[in-house]
Amino acid sequence: MVGAEGVHKSFGQVEVLKGIDLEVKPGEVFCLIGPSGSGKSTFLRCINHLEKINAGRLYVDGELVGYRQQGDKLYELRDREVAMKRRDIGMVFQRFNLFPHMTAVENVMEAPVQVKGRSKPEARERAMQLLERVGLADRAGHYPSQLSGGQQQRVAIARALAMDPKLMLFDEPTSALDPELVGDVLDVMRDLAESGMTMVVVTHEMGFAREVGDSLVFMDEGVVVESGHPREVLTNPRHERTQSFLSKVL
Ligand code: ATP
Ligand code: MG
Repeated sequence: MVGAEGVHKSFGQVEVLKGIDLEVKPGEVFCLIGPSGSGKSTFLRCINHLEKINAGRLYVDGELVGYRQQGDKLYELRDREVAMKRRDIGMVFQRFNLFPHMTAVENVMEAPVQVKGRSKPEARERAMQLLERVGLADRAGHYPSQLSGGQQQRVAIARALAMDPKLMLFDEPTSALDPELVGDVLDVMRDLAESGMTMVVVTHEMGFAREVGDSLVFMDEGVVVESGHPREVLTNPRHERTQSFLSKVL
């Protein structure tokens, strides 16, 4: 579902991704861990083309991100085409950036109505189903300010799902939450994983990675240091850098 081959990304003189190779298979929960500044968020942003890579190749669902291939030639996509592709990828950030002036259900309906041209009644019905799925049907009429951080994050997940994405990207979705609110969000992500969604998850929740993850990559300073099955990497890290990182977070 996602393929990276020698992906490089620099900001000015600073090389943040120094040749990332990895593969995310369909239906897989792919966890990405690593110290602050190692390039995890940057890599996620490259996947949905919020950042443009400088070298290497990045594929989503068999297609090169940001390019159209015609014969042997590559053509850079226009902004409109990039936006079209991005619709298929749901993204949930650390900060639940819901629209503050809209209720939960209106937040979830917004993109299907505005972007996909769904009718309001149809979008509302689907939005209610999704809120039900994340355990918030009874909060549909609440504004973000009337919801806890964990509830807002679950609305954000429902909002991403409303676009029927084929891939979901999560960037530390629980790290801004009070500890007692983390579990509900992880439960929603676990359900989503069980439904077969392909998920790339940047997380500090090692318990989640161990129990739900199918693959785990440890990144440091813009390179993949170690990868494998989460239980294996977390229990038996082979590299000194992985060991040192895990000794601090486990
Ligand atoms: P964290 O765990 O703190 O979220 P991260 O692994 O997600 O860290 P990134 O946010 O990808 O790390 O940042 C990697 C490096 O790239 C950092 O040194 C950061 O300062 C730099 N960086 C990220 N975005 C930009 C940008 N738009 N312009 C310049 N530098 C950037
Ligand atoms: Mg980050």
